[in-house]
Amino acid sequence: MLAKTGGRYRVLSSGVTLEATLRGRLKRGQEQVLVGDRVTLRSHTDAAVTIEAVEERKSVLRRRTPGRRHGVRLVAANLDQVAVVGAARQPDWAPQLMDRFIAVAAANDLPVAVVINKCDLLEDPAALGRAYERAGYEVLYTSVPAGAGLGELRDLLAGRSSLFTGPTGVGKSSLLNALQPGLRLRTGVVSRRSHSGRHTTVAAEMYPFAHGGFVVDTPGLRDIGLWGLERAEVEAAFREFRAYVGYCKFDDCRHLHEPGCAVRAATERGEIVASRLDSYRRMLQEAHTAARPWYAGRDR
Ligand code: GDP
Ligand code: ZN
Repeated sequence: MLAKTGGRYRVLSSGVTLEATLRGRLKRGQEQVLVGDRVTLRSHTDAAVTIEAVEERKSVLRRRTPGRRHGVRLVAANLDQVAVVGAARQPDWAPQLMDRFIAVAAANDLPVAVVINKCDLLEDPAALGRAYERAGYEVLYTSVPAGAGLGELRDLLAGRSSLFTGPTGVGKSSLLNALQPGLRLRTGVVSRRSHSGRHTTVAAEMYPFAHGGFVVDTPGLRDIGLWGLERAEVEAAFREFRAYVGYCKFDDCRHLHEPGCAVRAATERGEIVASRLDSYRRMLQEAHTAARPWYAGRDR
């Protein structure tokens, strides 16, 4: 299933895009049909198509709505990976934002690739990627005008189902258009606001990728920094810490101000990148308080 608008579902069937509705039984049930779901279709004599069943999912991207403890929304199904895109400049490289996107992927048990775009605007973009390479992530360096790294990006996306995400303006649409003219992310449609000032979610949308696989965009959820994470998820997201946590003096060390912290010591030795520890601390603090995150009111 590619996209849902109201009660209508856009579905890809043998290379053809169809519009379908839910079969009554499915409609009344608890189960939702998600973008990325594999479904069983049935054609009716009046040319109507209905979704009869949803196949078992191999992954689900979940979003925890902040503020409400158990508010969990299912965003997309069957993703293989998350490509987090950032810009070397314009907008300036924002490690804290990148780390948030990465943490959301990690919390959903999805592999992450980091894409550093606009490499034409910075002399040494590898300096930005090093922290992520060291943490074991695949890092791609791209430039749309210079045509750099586009082959690698195509290979990364080909044959897989990928969430393509990152802050606005970093060049996500430009990259995808360079690989597949006409494949458009809905740039600019960041999110609508209702009169109450709350976001009305614009759901995920999936596009077939010309080189095989699918690319998923979540325009209404671009502000992925607002996705709530729990403490355990934050801890798990910083995987380069794992080699050290066993050496912290206290078993329950949070790597904040505790004495004998091996993670902090590793950061001081330059083995862990300082911006990553900084991101971790901010995210951990939010996971504890979760009332008013540091970024509230920013970039709006
Ligand atoms: P999105 O919001 O992430 O989809 O970003 P866009 O694709 O709309 O790109 C935002 C701006 O950055 C546009 O003006 C693009 O022309 C520009 N841009 C995209 N990629 C690059 C790049 O690799 N280098 C430079 N210098 N500009 C780029
Ligand atoms: Zn520690």
